[in-house]
Amino acid sequence: MEMDFIGKTALVTGSTSGIGRATALKLAERGAHVIVSGRDAERGRATVDAIHQAGGAADFIPANLNDAEDVRELARRALAISGGRVDILVNNAGIFPFGPTPEVSDEQLEAVAAVNVNAPFILVAELAPAMVAGNGGAVVNVTTMVANFGMAGMALYGSSKAALQLLTKAWAAEFGPHNVRVNAVSPGPTRTEGTAGMGEGLDQLASTTPAGRPGSAEDVADAIVFLASDAAHHVHGAVLPVDGGRIAV
Ligand code: NAP
Repeated sequence: MEMDFIGKTALVTGSTSGIGRATALKLAERGAHVIVSGRDAERGRATVDAIHQAGGAADFIPANLNDAEDVRELARRALAISGGRVDILVNNAGIFPFGPTPEVSDEQLEAVAAVNVNAPFILVAELAPAMVAGNGGAVVNVTTMVANFGMAGMALYGSSKAALQLLTKAWAAEFGPHNVRVNAVSPGPTRTEGTAGMGEGLDQLASTTPAGRPGSAEDVADAIVFLASDAAHHVHGAVLPVDGGRIAV
């Protein structure tokens, strides 16, 4: 196992579950000090315990990303824990309420914007300056295949992730010249706690992909870790599909 993240701190939002937790475990395995975050302290503790049991380093900072002040407090505490610089930021936390446009409530509209777009924006605004001033850094955003094409029932969710996809490129332009790489992964149907309720619907969605089946949280985490690593040192502003080939065909 490569230990290429030794000496680096990584903040992974939404690492109490699914893709975020798998990413936190893999970054810690390779030597990163991981800051685990989410709202659920019990699941946060479970992720931190799993990292400690595997010999890694981790802390949990609770945050509700639906609240801008909480997001700023998360950034402040992450900087304090890391000695002033977070090297890797994974904007993974996301919510995905699917459904017809006429049925979207004002509350859902605001929550999707807050969690999927505004929170990554605030975290980059708060954390990128120290990366720029230090040895550089890496940001990996988690978007979705439905940021790339229209699908009924996914207007709100897909559009929020399309914004995050554009932010990925805008930030690559803004911070890339200062040695901060910004990239994204774009998952397709992936088995996590968050999609457990979809049952066979997830298999049906995945049956239209060349791979023919849903991915795992680990499949997506492997791509995130690659983009965060020095192996991707010349990769800026890329959106890497991890969708079984769905947007290719
Ligand atoms: P998941 O199992 O539901 O996990 C979502 C994570 O986000 C949890 O750790 C949750 O933490 C956190 N989160 C949600 N709302 C939050 C809030 N208000 N404040 C703080 N944290 C919050 O989801 P997943 O399937 O792993 O998805 C992870 C990312 O991949 C999301 O951005 C999603 O849009 C994207 N994605 C997933 C799929 C898929 O098929 N699974 C496909 C494409 C894209 P707490 O509950 O502890 O707050």
